[in-house]
Amino acid sequence: MLSFERLYADGHEEVVFFSDPSCNLKAIVAIHNTVLGPALGGTRMWTYKNEDEAIEDVLRLSKGMTYKAAVSGLNLGGGKAVIIGDPTKDKSEALFRSYGRFLESLNGRYITAEDVNIGVEDIEHVFTETPNVVGVAKIHGGSGDPSPYTALGVFRGMEASCLKVFGNRSVEGKSVALQGAGAVGRNLGRLLKDHGAKVYFTDINEGNIAKFKEIDPDATLVSVDEIYDVDCDIYAPCALGASVNDDTIDRLKCKIISGAANNQLAEDRHGVILREKGILYAPDYLINAGGLMNVSIEFEGWSDSKATRMVDTIYDTTLKIFKISDDQDIPVHKATDILAESRIESIKKIKGKHLGGALNSHRFPGRKTQ
Ligand code: NAD
Repeated sequence: MLSFERLYADGHEEVVFFSDPSCNLKAIVAIHNTVLGPALGGTRMWTYKNEDEAIEDVLRLSKGMTYKAAVSGLNLGGGKAVIIGDPTKDKSEALFRSYGRFLESLNGRYITAEDVNIGVEDIEHVFTETPNVVGVAKIHGGSGDPSPYTALGVFRGMEASCLKVFGNRSVEGKSVALQGAGAVGRNLGRLLKDHGAKVYFTDINEGNIAKFKEIDPDATLVSVDEIYDVDCDIYAPCALGASVNDDTIDRLKCKIISGAANNQLAEDRHGVILREKGILYAPDYLINAGGLMNVSIEFEGWSDSKATRMVDTIYDTTLKIFKISDDQDIPVHKATDILAESRIESIKKIKGKHLGGALNSHRFPGRKTQ
């Protein structure tokens, strides 16, 4: 059950329920924090067991977006939306257009995008009804597939980690155990090959294994369980969250963990254990923010060079976080939270609490199409 006590607990500003029985729409939008700007975060469609589960998911995800945008230096707040339904049966043009009309009523306080089970074709229907959406098709001024930018950000985080651990940012000659040869994993694999790293990889999907082999024929395939035992310099989790857990942490032989997956630590205490073991953990929600950076510039006119320049900043920000971690003798994940929170606090002080709202029209006079 949603309560003000629950919203106060994590500081959520607004939660909105949208329902339209004519197309079976049941959507929940959570706006966590708009101090830095309008809340941006994708819409997820999922067959939640019950409404409480959907509410918890949208609250957790929207808070995560606040931290990701803040630490990435973006002028955006955190928000997320969930649509309760079966993506294989319940999707329709009417549902997404109805959802788009509801989003329009938020006057730009929340900007949506793709997330799990929501593709460009769905977002295009939303875009018919509201401009407050990113990740639209390139033909409409969108930025296309975010995964190459996410992979580049992970690679920059890896380079910063190499500088700290080995005294040189280059990955040349380093061995990398890469878990998950999907959209991000493949793009990361290409960067690693081009820069002379030796890759060990795994996946559960035969098609993606074959695609990865085409990108790097010298990469060594290991079994799904073996990936944790690879004697390597860097472990790169690019599949699911929580892969650093009680069962795996003592098996890892790497010196660095740097990957794309969200919430790589099963629990915060695993970040403390990594620090004790001398394994450097690159902050997951910073180094995988390349995709968010990429969509965030759609309103001012997307270009590859602009997106790349933004993603390159992940290198310096990662080093800044390592310094906070060392100076304060705290684990990296705590240092990342501190950097995000301090940015929000400092802007809140100069501009007052609720400066969020719609995108500043002088900065974004209109979406430019290509
Ligand atoms: P994806 O679905 O394209 O790829 C994930 C891959 O992991 C798939 O090939 C899948 O078969 C594989 N996999 C699943 N379970 C596995 C297991 N137990 N062992 C080995 N492989 C397994 O997803 P993606 O877009 O490449 O995203 C990868 C991760 O990065 C996800 O956790 C995602 O949330 C995160 N992420 C992605 C982006 C993006 O731009 N795509 C941005 C930020 C974060």
